[in-house]
Amino acid sequence: MINLHQPILGTEELDAIAEVFASNWIGLGPRTRTFEAEFAHHLGVDPEQVVFLNSGTAALFLTVQVLDLGPGDDVVLPSISFVAAANAIASSGARPVFCDVDPRTLNPTLDDVARAITPATKAVLLLHYGGSPGEVTAIADFCREKGLMLIEDSACAVASSVHGTACGTFGDLATWSFDAMKILVTGDGGMFYAADPELAHRARRLAYHGLEQMSGFDSAKSSNRWWDIRVEDIGQRLIGNDMTAALGSVQLRKLPEFINRRREIATQYDRLLSDVPGVLLPPTLPDGHVSSHYFYWVQLAPEIRDQVAQQMLERGIYTSYRYPPLHKVPIYRADCKLPSAEHACRRTLLLPLHPSLDDAEVRTVADEFQKAVEHHISQRSPLRK
Ligand SMILES: *Cc1c(COP(=O)(O)O)cnc(C)c1O
Repeated sequence: MINLHQPILGTEELDAIAEVFASNWIGLGPRTRTFEAEFAHHLGVDPEQVVFLNSGTAALFLTVQVLDLGPGDDVVLPSISFVAAANAIASSGARPVFCDVDPRTLNPTLDDVARAITPATKAVLLLHYGGSPGEVTAIADFCREKGLMLIEDSACAVASSVHGTACGTFGDLATWSFDAMKILVTGDGGMFYAADPELAHRARRLAYHGLEQMSGFDSAKSSNRWWDIRVEDIGQRLIGNDMTAALGSVQLRKLPEFINRRREIATQYDRLLSDVPGVLLPPTLPDGHVSSHYFYWVQLAPEIRDQVAQQMLERGIYTSYRYPPLHKVPIYRADCKLPSAEHACRRTLLLPLHPSLDDAEVRTVADEFQKAVEHHISQRSPLRK
């Protein structure tokens, strides 16, 4: 079976975990701080601005809490978003307002975002579809001008940037996911970023019961009744731990290799699939844009997309589509027409893309895809008797 996504884990990761075991401290501790500092350096921000958490979803929920969003507030997000983004908004009592996307990039344009703004809009929550930055620079300028908070769900974009500025650092808050099927994996894990260190500090507190995070020994140094608690916020328990953080540090060191291999595979698909009839490949990235190449997506006639996916599955190749439009999901069913999002979700298919694919497997995927498309096109041909 050729998987859509797959992590690569090696002896370096095992050694890092063994070291955590030997230290006998597996909870939040020094390795968490180290991973935060390394990730902050990777983004070009201060370590105080990032908080390592137990998932990307936890990070999304924390963004709305830290901004005190609630009933009466609107948050604009692309309908082509991961469901956790809408869940986070709605859980606060705020209203998710879905906007359309560009039919080719599946990222919202500035115009898509601007058209969805209401008088009650407090924030915009973007993602970088498949790792492509999209119009984040223009949307960030727009948000600043209108006094709206910008949240970047950067789960797809761990190594994406525009003219050297990391995705996730254009707006006010950002989140990343390191779950088992992402580019950089820690099993479960996520990162939270706030441009304002005060908000980052509050997020850190909210991520641990509303308490200032301190080890027992450290609090004993600062108080003679160290068991007293000072709760300033109603928090949750969203923190990461030193085992997952240790994995994160190793994976972050390997990230440039992972991304290089992903880019090579994407380039091979571009070349191998350039003549498949009626198929659109991902648009070329604008100058200065760097993608993490999380997804490789092809677009084909909606009438054959599902059969092509089925035929490839029968040949042992797993494809999929992300993310189903949220304005069509029962709980969020919204009375709005978002034609490009609806069109894109009927004709887009993600092909396997992960660094462990070898060149022969990439060719197999491309060949089987081409065969499936040609087969189903001819099946539908009016000339067929
Ligand atoms: C995976 C993903 C998430 C959720 O992250 P978890 O770590 O699985 O909770 C959020 N947003 C996007 C775009 C994702 O792909």
